[in-house]
Amino acid sequence: MKKMHFWKICLLILVVFLSIPLLHILKTKWKEDDTKVAIPQGYTDDASRLNLTKVDTIISVPNDKKAIEIQLRNILKYAKANKLKISIAGAQHSMGGHTIYPDGIVLNMLPYKQMELDTVSNILTIGSGAFWEDALRYLDKSGKSISVMQSFSSFSIGGSMSVNGHGWQKDSPPISSSVISFTLMNANAEIVNCSREENSELFHLVVGGYGLFGIILEVKLKVVDNVALQYKYIKLSPKNYISHYKKYVSGNPKVNMVYGRLRISDKHFLEEATLNFFEKIKAEPKLLQEQKSVETQRLVFRGSVDSEYGKRLRWDLETGANKARENSEYSRNEVLSSDASLIENKDHSSTDLLQEYFIPERNFNQYIEEIKPILKKSEIDLLNITIRDVHKDKDSYLSYAREDMFGFVFLFNQKKTAQGEKEMKNLTNELIDVALKNGGTYYLPYRLHIDRNKMRKAYPQAESFFKMKLKYDPEELFNNKFYQHYR
Ligand SMILES: Cc1cc2nc3c(=O)[nH]c(=O)nc-3n(C[C@H](O)[C@H](O)[C@H](O)COP(=O)(O)OP(=O)(O)OC[C@H]3O[C@@H](n4cnc5c(N)ncnc54)[C@H](O)[C@@H]3O)c2cc1C
Repeated sequence: MKKMHFWKICLLILVVFLSIPLLHILKTKWKEDDTKVAIPQGYTDDASRLNLTKVDTIISVPNDKKAIEIQLRNILKYAKANKLKISIAGAQHSMGGHTIYPDGIVLNMLPYKQMELDTVSNILTIGSGAFWEDALRYLDKSGKSISVMQSFSSFSIGGSMSVNGHGWQKDSPPISSSVISFTLMNANAEIVNCSREENSELFHLVVGGYGLFGIILEVKLKVVDNVALQYKYIKLSPKNYISHYKKYVSGNPKVNMVYGRLRISDKHFLEEATLNFFEKIKAEPKLLQEQKSVETQRLVFRGSVDSEYGKRLRWDLETGANKARENSEYSRNEVLSSDASLIENKDHSSTDLLQEYFIPERNFNQYIEEIKPILKKSEIDLLNITIRDVHKDKDSYLSYAREDMFGFVFLFNQKKTAQGEKEMKNLTNELIDVALKNGGTYYLPYRLHIDRNKMRKAYPQAESFFKMKLKYDPEELFNNKFYQHYR
């Protein structure tokens, strides 16, 4: 009798224990507003949803090599005759109006996505509007994979090259390192081929050049083998991150992909970390399947907004899930195939904003110590910090990785109010000061909260970069809010 009573109590405790997180996740779902806010006709915006801007026209390009050249030549002629500026848009995941010029023409490059793989030289020729996801699915059939790309596959090739993005491929410089050449329509409507040998100055300016030197049309990318990978995970103190990184990642030739994460709940704030890596194994990589629903993961993520309980729950669930999936096998393409909808924010009163700072290894621990009080006192809600290594970039003129760096990627949730903007601007400036003090830089595709003088401290080459812009495009035909702000 006594025994039965004991089991009933255990069951009750278990039900209560499980129902609290379940209720939290359900509450998150109930609070969400699923109605989409449409962008009004004649306007455009970017991923920040803080850049709604009236434009002259949005023109989608065709998916045909001859047709796109004819169309773009006509657009350039029309723009010059009517004194209109042209901005170039991919998936518009940049966040400071980098794809937008007020009352200008917006080129929507996304339809331009034909591709062809040369299996002898391992070179993929691809239209700049294609998403990485399109490329991964195409390459998967031939056992190939993308060499360098971001953590999500829902970005365009042209946009990714123009910010010179990076991901979590081990020992890898940014995307430019995998670009062999590309064709560019310049401000005179001529098509020029750019590589490290041909028009090399332009090559270096265009990668990481934020659409200011012309329209990237067709790109030749070096591809790699799609391989089978096994997931590994270590929970550690951030203080030991570098030593563990050296031991388990740098010193291990089997590691193919790697990222770290810092705990961001008030409890143990930046005092716990995970190191996640994928080792190459001798097995046939599985073919890429349709992307699975990520709704539960998304709700766990969204449940951490404005909630210490949600943040702790997410950390516990993620670390628990990591442990459970240790040694699971994936193909490289499967790991790379991930849509940004995984973290989609459906609350229209707030927006999620990214920032990234690149810090040399020698100041890794010092940097974490110095950002702690700044993040703690800020009213802005910090949702995530991941860590990636980015090797020195020898290609892009406006390089953010002038030596090997660790990238700290922050995701914040900000209210769409004047106060929210003010707080974010203050926070960004404080974080940049810490990065500069530690020999670091910041990433340029995000909000434009830094003034041009401070930008030049992080990018001493900016002054000559903008001079080069005038050499290649004296009428400033290719234009956007990034250029207006920093030039
Ligand atoms: C949720 C999220 C996650 C992100 N993760 C990462 C990450 O892991 N790593 C990383 O490096 N970055 C990341 N970013 C940052 C960044 O915005 C993207 O790397 C990049 O902008 C995505 O490409 P896009 O197609 O959205 O580019 P867009 O935002 O459309 O364009 C970016 C720039 O490229 C120019 N451009 C676009 N197409 C062309 C073209 N055909 N010719 C010439 N110029 C062109 C535009 O004018 C603009 O200046 C992330 C952003 C978000 C919102």
